[in-house]
Amino acid sequence: MAFLEINDVRKQFGVNVVVKGFTLGIEGGEFLSLLGPSGCGKTTVLRMVAGFESPTSGVIRIDGKDVTNLRPNQRNVGMVFQAYALFPNMTVAENVAFGLKVAKRPAAEIKSRVDEMLNMIKLPHLADRYPYQCSGGQQQRVALARALAQKPKVLLLDEPLSALDAKIRVSLREEIRALQRALGITTIFVTHDQEEALSMSDRVVVMNEGRAEQVGTPFEVYNNPATPFVANFVGTLSVLKGKVLDAASGRIQIGKSEIVASRKLFQASPGDACSVALRPEAAVLENGHGGAANGAARNRLEGTIDDVSFLGSVVRVRVKIEDNAISLDTFNNPNAAPPQPGAPVVVSFTPNDVLVLDNAR
Ligand code: ATP
Repeated sequence: MAFLEINDVRKQFGVNVVVKGFTLGIEGGEFLSLLGPSGCGKTTVLRMVAGFESPTSGVIRIDGKDVTNLRPNQRNVGMVFQAYALFPNMTVAENVAFGLKVAKRPAAEIKSRVDEMLNMIKLPHLADRYPYQCSGGQQQRVALARALAQKPKVLLLDEPLSALDAKIRVSLREEIRALQRALGITTIFVTHDQEEALSMSDRVVVMNEGRAEQVGTPFEVYNNPATPFVANFVGTLSVLKGKVLDAASGRIQIGKSEIVASRKLFQASPGDACSVALRPEAAVLENGHGGAANGAARNRLEGTIDDVSFLGSVVRVRVKIEDNAISLDTFNNPNAAPPQPGAPVVVSFTPNDVLVLDNAR
């Protein structure tokens, strides 16, 4: 039995069913992200675990105990919200102490726990400041300390980094992950930011329209997307439209050329339309940009450079191939001229890199 169990949970607001038969087991100490587009129901799932919403049907268990109908303060969960949910009229120390005071813990215990928490988030010097005197990143660390002060069994994080600027986001996500590991606390993290989910999580749940489309490690979800939605939502993709030549051997016609896909083309017949996709790191230019690319087993498509975006360490190149386009990443090389729009090029990739998205049946 998993430490936290969400069993066939459904949530309906009026006539709208926003969470549909959602089942998930989260192991003790696991860091799990709910990733999905706006409105897919991830916050509603989190709020049902916290006890701020009741499921229309289904059961939620924490550490073997049915908590489905318990109030939030009876569940022993800590929650951090999107932004600035600190009490503005309380100091940092008072904010961290809040839950312990409500629980009527002895004063000495509260003081030592608050000191411990402020040391843990490395902000003991800010104890007497008010939230408005702290930066956004500091406020979110205080919110984390407040959530952890009562030693919850489960930590729930609702897009806690989304209001912060890019550099703070990255450093705070590392800090949250390190703290979570050190405490071994079971955590659910809600985000629509795929980079955050992939970089922080033990497992990611990709949600779409109230359902879990795929549950897996970041590696599995990115490299073996179970559905076209997951493939498109997690990472960047170039989609190529083609025709099946022979499903058994994975031969597909793309424009005038032929490629081979080593992943299965389910039940496709010769002549069926199909879509395949490539990650930007899978394809390379054969003229020297993007690494060596020779070898008989590679697929090769001729095209013309259509666009070049300089992103810093990475240069993203879009290559037009008849009616299709492939975006690929090359590393910046300060000693060589970057690829030029209009130049004829050959793009190559392995059969194993070709993701098969769908087939006509
Ligand atoms: P976001 O990233 O934008 O927060 P989300 O994936 O977390 O999106 P939810 O906040 O769970 O999505 O909302 C899912 C759906 O449920 C949305 O269509 C939303 O409008 C609806 N919804 C959420 N809360 C309520 C409510 N209290 N009453 C009615 N509809 C609601």
